[in-house]
Amino acid sequence: MHKALLYLSEHSKYYQRMFDKYEIDVNKIQHLEDLVKIPFTEKKDLQIFNEDFLCCPKEKIIDYITTSGTLGDPVTFACTEKDLQRLAYNEKKSFECAGLHPGNILQLMTTIDKRFMAGLAYFLGIREMGASIIRVGNGIPELQWDTIKRIQPDTIMCVPSFILRLIQYAEDHGIDYRNSSVKRIIGIGEGLRDQDFNLNLLGRKIREKWDVQLFATYSSTEMGATFSECEYGMGGHVHPELIIVEIIGEDDLPVPDGEVGEVVVTTLGVEGMPLLRFRTGDMCAKRVEQCKCGRWSYRLTPLVGRKNNMIKLKGTTLYPPAINDVLDNTEYVENYCIYVSENESGTDDVEVKIGLKYDTPFDPVKDLKDKFRARIRVAPRVTVLPKEEIQKINFPAKSRKPVKFIDLRHK
Ligand SMILES: [Zn+2]
Repeated sequence: MHKALLYLSEHSKYYQRMFDKYEIDVNKIQHLEDLVKIPFTEKKDLQIFNEDFLCCPKEKIIDYITTSGTLGDPVTFACTEKDLQRLAYNEKKSFECAGLHPGNILQLMTTIDKRFMAGLAYFLGIREMGASIIRVGNGIPELQWDTIKRIQPDTIMCVPSFILRLIQYAEDHGIDYRNSSVKRIIGIGEGLRDQDFNLNLLGRKIREKWDVQLFATYSSTEMGATFSECEYGMGGHVHPELIIVEIIGEDDLPVPDGEVGEVVVTTLGVEGMPLLRFRTGDMCAKRVEQCKCGRWSYRLTPLVGRKNNMIKLKGTTLYPPAINDVLDNTEYVENYCIYVSENESGTDDVEVKIGLKYDTPFDPVKDLKDKFRARIRVAPRVTVLPKEEIQKINFPAKSRKPVKFIDLRHK
């Protein structure tokens, strides 16, 4: 950690300014507990002072990457040769955690270009490990199944919800997917488990159809590190040599282990754009007890939600995924959208608009409110609309992802 701070004080314009302004002597930051003396780095800082975060001459940059910022413009990231090696090491260790060895064949169902870091990092990790990779890219179930038939991969890496499309395609086209070569799926970008480490609805839907091993991962460009589940699926294991994670509460101080807070990261060994106490906006908890796999490295629980989506409803703190979970598990709900707004007293108002799969013999509004009270202790307002209308809200012309959460609050 001291090395990382020293590096920033020598090479980062942004952090040099911060250390000056707050009179921080990096030599006095010796222990993890001392980190609290340093201000956080926010996503918007990356956006406003983007160039000042770069710690090396541009000639040393091999790969340029962008991530979406909070203020509109994307943020540029840069990887040096050393950073690419670090990424390779990170993914190799994550793949090992998911049980991969030299000799395994992984079919990559995510894009490797489009200015993303992830796909490239997976490729580098597989190469580092000495396993094999097939870079099919995202989408196109037909091409995915053709590749599975030809090359017989044992592992798939993709966004988990895409698996449902793969299964659907296989069922529609008489492909015997249950007896295919695929035995393991590594999910990216979406959770597969709840806070008790049981499979969530998406995980269960996949497993009911297909008896494969499921692994969830958590990572981001800013972290340059991955938290990957082991075969016991008890949270994502950290690689402590690559990253420091603090879990920060609403008072901006670390919470006790096991409690939910915001993930704040400090990268270690990054040359191009290292970050110090970067607020990710992701909410989860740290688990420090020994894992069933024998590893002592701490784990992060599946994400509870995003900090800026946090809702305070009648004195209870909750996140949209908790509301989604109730609706996703209600048989007669065809589709829905959650609206959050501010009321006059400054607290949050939540309205859930639902479309029905069929007419229920009981009052669906009352039934849903009871379900909400049972599961999340409070009940939002519920309105029933024609499902076609909800469909239009879920899939507006410009959006690639379905819209299920609309935040009308002023922040
Ligand atoms: Zn483990």
